[in-house]
Amino acid sequence: MPGYEEIIRCNRCGFCQSVCPTYLHSHDEVQVARGRIHLTRLLLEGKYDFTKDPELAEKVDDCLLCGSCTVACPSSVKTDEIMVAARNDFVTNRGLKLFQKLVYGGLLPRKERLERVTSLMRLYEKSGARNVLYGKVLRRAFDRLVYYESFLPDNLSKPARLGLGPIVRPSSAPKIKIAFFLGCASNAFWGRTVRDSLSYLISRGALIHIPPTTCCGEPHRSSGDLTETKKLALKNSELIFKEEYEAIVTDCSTCAKALSRYDEFVGPDSKEGERVRALLGRVVDLNTFVVERLGLRTEDLKPTGFGTVTYHDSCHAIRGLGIREAPRAILSAIPGLAFREMEGADSCCGGAGSYGFTHPTMSGRIAADKAAKIAKSGADVLSTSCPACALQLGAGLKRAWKTVPILHPVELLAHSAGVAESVPPTIGHAGDRQAKVDKRERRP
Ligand code: SF4
Ligand code: SF4
Repeated sequence: MPGYEEIIRCNRCGFCQSVCPTYLHSHDEVQVARGRIHLTRLLLEGKYDFTKDPELAEKVDDCLLCGSCTVACPSSVKTDEIMVAARNDFVTNRGLKLFQKLVYGGLLPRKERLERVTSLMRLYEKSGARNVLYGKVLRRAFDRLVYYESFLPDNLSKPARLGLGPIVRPSSAPKIKIAFFLGCASNAFWGRTVRDSLSYLISRGALIHIPPTTCCGEPHRSSGDLTETKKLALKNSELIFKEEYEAIVTDCSTCAKALSRYDEFVGPDSKEGERVRALLGRVVDLNTFVVERLGLRTEDLKPTGFGTVTYHDSCHAIRGLGIREAPRAILSAIPGLAFREMEGADSCCGGAGSYGFTHPTMSGRIAADKAAKIAKSGADVLSTSCPACALQLGAGLKRAWKTVPILHPVELLAHSAGVAESVPPTIGHAGDRQAKVDKRERRP
């Protein structure tokens, strides 16, 4: 099984303890790469049988796949690959967990279903029930409910696909023809971000095709369901890996990481794998595309109304694709916006796809830590390039009664260039609900 060959490379030095978020929040040996690798080894050697010891499988499921340990590891052991290999064994033997079956099997592959969920959530937000839930009494009674509810972004916009045609044209002669890969979370929860980012790209002369793709398959891969990952990748690869597209762009760093290894997903030795491999170089995340392909144009930029910004590096961007400078170059180019680096900007937010839903205690602790670091930066706007991280960070901030709008760097750029469709979420937006609750609760 690919991934297992990594096990023997671990020399048990323990360097991984200093960077592993699940270890730093538990100090439990089986919650760090060294312990997890040793456990997997014992499973492989037949000393343990996870079908008999389900809690062992949990220890493997507890890993965030954030890759921090690999960076700190003298042998660069790819613990995330080992965990995915082990999870694939679990899934093959015991099947997916209920949550994964419902979401990965039922929702993600069918965009229209997730969009219906978004519409229901928008109705709920408009109903005002949210303010009641965040009131002191109910909040205590339904702490767990508030925990899950806090993932809902403030002022949830309509799904990106609604009202978006298969081709978006620039007003002037096209300079470049691209395929835009619309990820599940971007579409369902950050429609505003997608629309404003597309507005910026066409203002720079991009002719944008938006093929009817399905989920990128990364959530399925990280849960060990490699069979479904392959099915989804085969559907997508024929739609986006085409000679006619000069670039394959996505605003989601998780999708970008998945697409960048699609030759593996579809079958590295297959004909399709070969074909995809020849076009892999065209996959690019939105920030890098703007900075390196379009070039950062600053002459028509104006202040956005925000004073200071801080940035969260998603694991898939910084450790998966080595992207660090492009988003910071964009943010630093916006006039009137001071960039403040936060402590641990590249440490995992604890979201890890659906980890926040399947591991509320550990994920909640990591999110609280991140929220404190964001607040400490003093920034009045937070930026990140992964819609799943944005959901997780937004939830952590809400639970900590902090109200900071979250925007993608290119979304901020679109506002600064005056081409954004939406009104920028001001600091007060998320604060409105807070102010109402405080006033009702006579909180200062
Ligand atoms: S740092 Fe690497 S080699 Fe050392 S214990 Fe952790 S995984 Fe093993
Ligand atoms: S991938 Fe992340 S959570 Fe998993 S062992 Fe490594 S550092 Fe810890």
